[in-house]
Amino acid sequence: MALLDKALVVFSGGQDSTTCLHWALKQFKEIRALSFDYNQRHKIELEAARTICQNLKIPHHILDFSLFSQIGGNALTDTMPIEGTQKSLPNTFVPGRNLMFLTAAAAYAYSYGINHLVTGVCQTDFSGYPDCRDDTIKALQVAINLGMDSQFVIHTPLMWLNKAESVKLALEVGAMDSLAYSHTCYEGVFPPCGVCPACILRSKGFSEAGILDPLQKRVSLCV
Ligand SMILES: [Zn+2]
Repeated sequence: MALLDKALVVFSGGQDSTTCLHWALKQFKEIRALSFDYNQRHKIELEAARTICQNLKIPHHILDFSLFSQIGGNALTDTMPIEGTQKSLPNTFVPGRNLMFLTAAAAYAYSYGINHLVTGVCQTDFSGYPDCRDDTIKALQVAINLGMDSQFVIHTPLMWLNKAESVKLALEVGAMDSLAYSHTCYEGVFPPCGVCPACILRSKGFSEAGILDPLQKRVSLCV
């Protein structure tokens, strides 16, 4: 299959976007990665993003998005304890985050003549976040293309995969070495806390896929 031209990967340094980065390496001739600094509790993920891109020799840029911490009101940019509820959205939901990230990514890509955007959002295991849904992303693609008079395609390779399937995809696209350096824990610590919702979801995915998380191997070498 002929490779597509250029793509920009929205890259947090987490498990899903690391898988997407490797997926994109298989699909496109040239890729760049873009991360966002929004004073997130787990800012350590930006170090992970930097390390992974350096290892893969992928051009990487971090955009300042501190406006989210000025808005506040959620557990990722404030100091409140992380809570999930059965009835409503967990307080780790940062309203507008993916909408603004993808719009900023499109603006950035526009300046590099890039038409393809790749993001690791997922509807199947989406933690209740409405901006990870397929309908949201499709509507946003339309809005961005109208607003920028452009022809962006937003690729979402993980959209319909559960966590175990996305671990299998990571293996298939050769992402395991990079995943050893990825960051998932909401508490922003290394070794990961193991008990926050993000840690639990990650560990469930690897155990259901029957694959040892390379991050855990790195932890065992470090402690
Ligand atoms: Zn954790």
